[in-house]
Amino acid sequence: MSSVREKTFKKLRRKKIWPPILVFVVFVIVCVVAILVFLQMFALYIMGTKVVHHFEEAQRVGGVIDALIDGGDTLHEAAYEMHKYILEGKEIYITDRDGNLVYQAGDSQPDFNKVLEFSLGQSFVAAADSESCFAQESGIGTIFCMPAEEVFGKVFVPGEEGEDLGEWLGKTIVSQDYWLRTILKDRNHAVYVKCNIQFKREDIAYVCIFGLIALVLLLIPVILLFVNTIRSIVTQRKMTLLFYLDPVTGGRNWLCFQNYAERILTRRMNNKKAFAVVNLHFERYQNYCACYGVKAGEGLLEAMDGFLNARIRKNEIFARNEGADFGLLLMCEGTNEEERQRHCCKRMHSLLAELAGLKPEQKIHFHAGIHMIPPYISEENKWYQARKDVDIDQLFAYANAARLESNCIQDRRISFFDQEMLGRQVWERWVEDTMETALRNEEFQVYLQPKYSPVNGKLVGAEALVRWDSPVKGIIAPGGFIPIFEATGFITRLDDYMISHVAKLLAEWTIQGKKTVPVSVNVSRAHFSQEGVAEHICQLVDAYGPRHELIELEVTEGAFFDDKDILVETVKQLRGYGFGVSMDDFGAGYSSLNSLKDIPLDVLKLDGEFFRGDEDGRGQIIVKEAIRLARSLDMRVVAEGIEKKEQVEFLAGQGCDMIQGFYFAKPMPVTEFEEKVEKDA
Ligand code: C2E
Ligand code: MG
Ligand code: MG
Repeated sequence: MSSVREKTFKKLRRKKIWPPILVFVVFVIVCVVAILVFLQMFALYIMGTKVVHHFEEAQRVGGVIDALIDGGDTLHEAAYEMHKYILEGKEIYITDRDGNLVYQAGDSQPDFNKVLEFSLGQSFVAAADSESCFAQESGIGTIFCMPAEEVFGKVFVPGEEGEDLGEWLGKTIVSQDYWLRTILKDRNHAVYVKCNIQFKREDIAYVCIFGLIALVLLLIPVILLFVNTIRSIVTQRKMTLLFYLDPVTGGRNWLCFQNYAERILTRRMNNKKAFAVVNLHFERYQNYCACYGVKAGEGLLEAMDGFLNARIRKNEIFARNEGADFGLLLMCEGTNEEERQRHCCKRMHSLLAELAGLKPEQKIHFHAGIHMIPPYISEENKWYQARKDVDIDQLFAYANAARLESNCIQDRRISFFDQEMLGRQVWERWVEDTMETALRNEEFQVYLQPKYSPVNGKLVGAEALVRWDSPVKGIIAPGGFIPIFEATGFITRLDDYMISHVAKLLAEWTIQGKKTVPVSVNVSRAHFSQEGVAEHICQLVDAYGPRHELIELEVTEGAFFDDKDILVETVKQLRGYGFGVSMDDFGAGYSSLNSLKDIPLDVLKLDGEFFRGDEDGRGQIIVKEAIRLARSLDMRVVAEGIEKKEQVEFLAGQGCDMIQGFYFAKPMPVTEFEEKVEKDA
């Protein structure tokens, strides 16, 4: 069911939605990372300026010690001097090359387990203070770590009374001791100078302000991109709706039905549920539009859509198919097929009744064809497997086929699809598809059924009956294709074919000097109601030139209900040309004695049904009177469908002219008939 339209739609959908979302997500990630990196760099910059200042101080200490040693002092003396005179209160810690303590001024000392060489524009070696470090972390945190809660706890402490913003911002919130290393000139000793790094609220404020500016700058494109993405999604959604919109009803269209119905049926959780695909048809919609206007018709379809929308349940869907046809996928309740059908039928009946009431002042009718979809049992008998390869259009076609059948039957508004129905329709299709070729290839054969005289038992005539000798299906009896030919109008072509073939046969028999008997040919009522048909038949026969009296044309009784004037005219003309005309199947349909009064016929063919199941002899009474009537009207009588000896004897006694039936012979091919004529005529 993946039509080009659907493929285009899917492609369009994929294309529209994902690129903007992807671009947006990537952009947001890049922005967040950029802000974090920027903030970190800025924080490091602030820290770097402080550490550089401390390092200069440490280098100055190292320089002074170096100067004192150069002046003749020992390392101890120089360090002591340093401690005493230059940096009173400062703590220093001097180690030799191997890290052994050489001199210490102050109580605390570096923690040599937490030493880090790091770079903030220039390289530093620092150590954590053995007393003030809280936690062992990696990187710069090894030296300057402080619990985050403690830092943040101090940041947002409100100012004291009388304290202005400048003072509040200037307050130190982080004060951390650490040791910076400098190497003495002899390169054998390292001097660690204890420093104190402090962060004020203003430092954090700088970071925050810069972070905020960066955030705002990045937020603008993010917002623009976000708006664009949302717009794309909205456009895409609108497009989906448009794609799924039926221009007439304003509801869902067929593409939507196909997609969603397939989704519902193939959903795993629905595999144990039974469904019905329904074809709902608004009868004589075109006629409605012609009478009330197309706008009113479309308005009614819209109202139908609204009505169905209110009646449809979860896991069900409907849409307009085309014209005034709607497709519905309904759920069916019940433990077996019969119950489910009953449930579905009941629901559809009430739906149809309500729909018919949509326009109380107008008479509108609906038909429905239903194709039932039973619960799914997978081939491997696995309960969790879902339906596969669901072809909604095919299922709908089945429902449609069922609906077309219900159309033929008056007052049957709902009909269920079954395989027999499909077989019939497949057959009809095959006949319609192949009939033209069959006629061209002369696959239709003339069979002849003899007519006998009950008086002397001689073969006195025959009826030409068609047989279709198909290379694919073999011999097909007329019952299988005549009704289809009649429905399609192709029957007139077959009649012409049969008349020509019979005329040719009769001409051949005459030329060859064979025994010849009159042959009757069936002419459909469709043919008889056409003007100029007598001339047309005459031309067909004359193309071969047999005597006209040898040909009799059989018309069924039904034809007498059509345009009687044309019929009377045609019969008169045919008789004028010398052809015999008979009324076929007299008594089979709605017999009208009137037709016998108005139309001058040569032969009355009594229908075989008079003789079937005639236990109480009422059939015989009618046959007897019909023969008497025909004789009085100067018509000959042929009794058809005679199968028993007693029937023959009865008819002989009543003065019936000819008998045609299996008692004497079945319809047979021409060669066989020719032999029979030689024997029996
Ligand atoms: P029909 O014209 O009334 O032909 C008589 C039908 O009764 C034939 O069926 C024949 O085989 C059958 N029949 C004859 N004797 C007996 C009998 O003793 N018992 C039973 N049960 N049946 C008997 P067939 O050949 O199947 O034709 C059926 C109908 O198809 C014909 O009824 C006729 O209406 C139509 N048909 C046949 N050939 C043609 C044709 O070439 N053109 C047209 N328009 N209709 C034809
Ligand atoms: Mg006939
Ligand atoms: Mg008949």
